[in-house]
Amino acid sequence: MAINPERIWSSPQLPTLPAVAVRLLELARDPEAEVRDVVAAIKADPAITARIIKTANSSFFALRSPVTSIERAVPLLGTTAVTSLALSFSVVDAAVVKVPLAEHYRQYWRQSVVQAIAADALDADNTGLGGSEQFLAGLLVDLGRLAMLRSIPNEYGALLDALATSDATEPLHERERRELGIDHIEVGLKLQERWKLPRRLADALEMHHASPEVLAGLEKHENADVMRAVAMGAAAGDYFCTPRVAPALERMQMLGARLFGFDQAQLTAYLERVKAGVDEVGEMFSIDPDNIPHPNELLAMANEELAQLALREHVASAQAVARSEEVERENRVLEERTRQLETHALLDPLTNVFNRRQFDDVLQRELDRARRYGRTIGVMFCDLDCFKQLNDNYGHAFGDEVLKHVSSVLKSTVRTSDTVARYGGEEFVVLAIEPTEKGIEILAERVRERVEACRISSGETPVPVTVSIGAVVALPRKDARGLAEQLLQVADEAMYEAKRSGRNQIRTRSLLDDGDRLLLGEARMRRFSRWLVREGVFELADAAKAVLASDTVWVRLGELAVRYGFLSEEQANQALQARAANERFGEAARRLSLLGEAEVAQLLALQQESPESVTAALVEHGQLDQGEAAVLLERYLHEHTPPVQRTAPVVPQPVEG
Ligand code: GH3
Ligand code: MG
Ligand code: MG
Repeated sequence: MAINPERIWSSPQLPTLPAVAVRLLELARDPEAEVRDVVAAIKADPAITARIIKTANSSFFALRSPVTSIERAVPLLGTTAVTSLALSFSVVDAAVVKVPLAEHYRQYWRQSVVQAIAADALDADNTGLGGSEQFLAGLLVDLGRLAMLRSIPNEYGALLDALATSDATEPLHERERRELGIDHIEVGLKLQERWKLPRRLADALEMHHASPEVLAGLEKHENADVMRAVAMGAAAGDYFCTPRVAPALERMQMLGARLFGFDQAQLTAYLERVKAGVDEVGEMFSIDPDNIPHPNELLAMANEELAQLALREHVASAQAVARSEEVERENRVLEERTRQLETHALLDPLTNVFNRRQFDDVLQRELDRARRYGRTIGVMFCDLDCFKQLNDNYGHAFGDEVLKHVSSVLKSTVRTSDTVARYGGEEFVVLAIEPTEKGIEILAERVRERVEACRISSGETPVPVTVSIGAVVALPRKDARGLAEQLLQVADEAMYEAKRSGRNQIRTRSLLDDGDRLLLGEARMRRFSRWLVREGVFELADAAKAVLASDTVWVRLGELAVRYGFLSEEQANQALQARAANERFGEAARRLSLLGEAEVAQLLALQQESPESVTAALVEHGQLDQGEAAVLLERYLHEHTPPVQRTAPVVPQPVEG
């Protein structure tokens, strides 16, 4: 019997977010938020404060000295991790209740935590159980179930009771839709929207039951990582926490193979990781790890069931046909959802580049990243010249063609890591990652030339098309307030200057100061690839290729300083602890005279390009053999790092006397 969804939306029982979570979400969206704002927000809730400190001290984070204050915990764990943790703890409180449906609440919550851990276990550089975005996304995936338990307890409870006693393998969301006319995906999305949760979380929720084909096809989607991890996590949640063990295993096998390249052994190892994670943090999230069986126990059961299922399927072939039709129908719905996601929310429908809203999100994210890693960022505004006239002369449809053309010129000219967006009618904007001042000028000029060189014709008539470009480079700093707006504004002003000077020109600006310039220039010159070129080992182009092919895993500067012997662990901790709000590690270390400017530049160089991964890439591509690679690496490190335990692991020495 379908229910009226209004009953859910208007229910006073819907879970709400506690004030601390609301505030943290606001801060997450606020580019000017600082660590101390996050600290202040968390402090307002002593229970959450206590749990975060406890988490920071859990064995997972393996911090050297115990963390006793939230002021220390936040910079150590990072604001993203802390925000995720606080949100997670907020949801626990909404989920743990004593009511007639307690067992269903417990079941929902147990599965949510397992899903979170399972999604987190796929995050390559996971920050720690409970701290990653994947974790939070996994935890919120079934938010709709919580909302339905609270708002329509009778109907939903009856559905869950019936499900628990039947041996049907139908997925929960399909049964919900069939019986109630609405499913927990739709309810969850609506609630997330109300809570103004980030888009990435909503995307993950929306796709968590999508078919492997649909998920595999999302390759280009910027949120593909979290969507896929959460879909896999949800399947693992089904596996560990519901009687639908067999279909869950089958789904994990397909998702694992298609999305993560898992073979059977890797899948088993993954499931063991998940179980170990549950054992480690389950309690922190109010679930009893003993309720989660070991994956091996489940495997035998699942395989047996799968065999039976195959048999049953064979017999009931008519049913199988019906089911495949249903699967197809579901896929169509999901594909439509995917298409909408991609074309309406993210991309400009005419030119297929990002739209403005999406660009603003990307810009904010990249600014944060650039600030953390000490990289430059560039923004370039491109406005078509006299476009109104072009429309008037050749018609709007032709104008549209020109816009498509220009966007493809832009896309093919910038690097893949750069972002192109349509910012307004005939205005495009480019976000360039880590450009130099000279580099962005070259890029702008190249775009200008290529647009001018396009031969676009209306019928027989060749129509000249030109752009005016304004570009700006900055190095985001700790006190960079409103930098996103500033960058856009400066680029826009530069573009207008190009217009005033006669159009079809570029103008560039730089927000770097002399100190920035010096440090960045130094760091760039010290990079391993530059060194290879200077030493005459490689041509610039080959070295650049190796850099592109190598992994760009970012390691914190403090960690690098210890790894390469610039600082002892105590010194690194000292700099870490002395950091003012948002101050970068290098700045603090210099302030304390632990590092000199040249050493910071060298550490930046090591951070920007890992010499180990560059040599690995060169070996892999057959440009060096192992022996040569080792010699070069050793020489570079010898010249550029202090003469102590260079790459050897630090082995504790027995203390004498
Ligand atoms: P300027 O060189 O100073 O930039 O002159 P302009 O004519 O390009 O600038 P203006 O901003 O006055 O006009 C922009 C024109 O772009 C007006 C509008 O009709 C046209 N335009 C905006 N969006 C679209 C679109 O989607 N398709 C087409 N064909 N034209 C568009
Ligand atoms: Mg124009
Ligand atoms: Mg304009």
